[in-house]
Amino acid sequence: MAALGSPHRPLRVAIIGSGPSGFYAAEALFKTDLHVEVDMFERLPTPFGLVRGGVAPDHFKIKKTARAFEKIARHESFHFFGNVTIGRDLSVDDLRRFHDAILFACGAESDRKLNIPGEDLPGSHAATEFVGWYNGHPDYQDREFDLSQEAVVIIGQGNVAMDVSRILAKTVDELRDTDITEKALDALAESKVKEIYLVGRRGPVQAAFTPHEIKEMGALADCDVVVDSRDLILNEASQIELNKPDHHHRQKNMAILEEFAARKPAGKSRRLHIRFFQSPVKLPGRERVEAVVLEKNELVGPPYKQKARGTGIKEELPCGLVFRSVGYRGVPIEGAPFDESEGVFPNQDGRVTDAETILSGLYAAGWIKRGPSGVIGVNKADSQATVNSILEDLPRLLPCPTPYTRRVRELLESRGVRPITFEEWQRIDAAEIERGKAKGKPREKFTSVEEMLEVLDKTPAATQNE
Ligand code: NAP
Repeated sequence: MAALGSPHRPLRVAIIGSGPSGFYAAEALFKTDLHVEVDMFERLPTPFGLVRGGVAPDHFKIKKTARAFEKIARHESFHFFGNVTIGRDLSVDDLRRFHDAILFACGAESDRKLNIPGEDLPGSHAATEFVGWYNGHPDYQDREFDLSQEAVVIIGQGNVAMDVSRILAKTVDELRDTDITEKALDALAESKVKEIYLVGRRGPVQAAFTPHEIKEMGALADCDVVVDSRDLILNEASQIELNKPDHHHRQKNMAILEEFAARKPAGKSRRLHIRFFQSPVKLPGRERVEAVVLEKNELVGPPYKQKARGTGIKEELPCGLVFRSVGYRGVPIEGAPFDESEGVFPNQDGRVTDAETILSGLYAAGWIKRGPSGVIGVNKADSQATVNSILEDLPRLLPCPTPYTRRVRELLESRGVRPITFEEWQRIDAAEIERGKAKGKPREKFTSVEEMLEVLDKTPAATQNE
């Protein structure tokens, strides 16, 4: 039999997930000297994962990453299967029949919990739900956020918390020319939100946001930014962390926060209060959230390992809307091992493991491999590293018995599943762009799978790439 990766027997890889780590893995595979075929599976009819459904609509430059992914998708040996859920429409064992290697790049679709009383009351939401809602993700269109509230508290100070704060703080005019959904724009136009509290459990040096994101907060049309200079007084360990020569982003964050603290409020309609050293301990409320009880923290431990410790001093901050933005979490897929404590697929250098044993032919990349950290570009090197592991393992990979993409399609169709090709996605894409034109937006997204399939029924198909 011809060797895997030869012209007569290309290496066949199934990639689960069409976000950045999936596309970077496809790119790394196509850049090798091998003959490779990639079948990429995506639960939604639309590709690009967080670039479409997570990146904030007003971050145009990051949204443009999708163009690089489109280029990868044009490779003749790339096949997109949108609208296919692995673990439901196809099992991992099914995939093994058609692919020599399976690479999970399915990200982190759920959110971490705070584990405090009141967390599940109405009015308390995971930030990821709000992000999915304003970005038109079909899973979150039925969510309702009570924007008639004047005070909103956002827990956590990562870039997701920054996105949520910014979307709440911006005027509708600042969002109108983005691809935020019309539904979200209409709801935000009625927003009564005035006081936005962005609360971090540790200090300004440990904050997870990045300089570009914090700087934007100082340039909002109708929202003052409020920082208490007492929060910027550092203990010795934080000063050491700040002074580390390669900690440029921390030094920049600090300089921006100092400038904010020195500002006088300009009397704008909204205020964004950036607070440090406070942890939520309870969300009181009978029918719904009425407040957040925050406990003042102090930092303990050596530099770079400082933890927040409660001082017992508490404050009750009245508010009717809370967003918990303390990180994403992966979700299991039947047929693959899952590490419940970390919310990832256990792995060694991207090779999926079960009780420390490497499972031949199963790989992971991106957030499901290493946890939900790092900006989009970080996934490029991470996916490359997993592809390197596949290449090292190549002589030991068991060739699959049915190495044909068309057979995957036939199996899906026999099960009544309607897989979406990349060409079909491009028709959905063109229809969204067309809908957006009249409103001066880059696109008006379809927000349900039904609407997307309807578009395909109405628009003519070009020749398919199989
Ligand atoms: P993140 O960067 O990990 O931030 C999580 C935040 O939650 C941290 O401030 C963390 O504080 C806090 N936290 C965790 N557990 C907590 C608890 N029990 N109580 C209170 N606070 C708690 O996560 P993220 O914001 O979800 O972002 C995920 C990744 O996506 C990041 O790498 C981010 O940079 C990236 N991203 C980038 C952009 C962009 O480039 N514009 C936009 C969105 C997301 P501690 O530090 O104390 O743990």
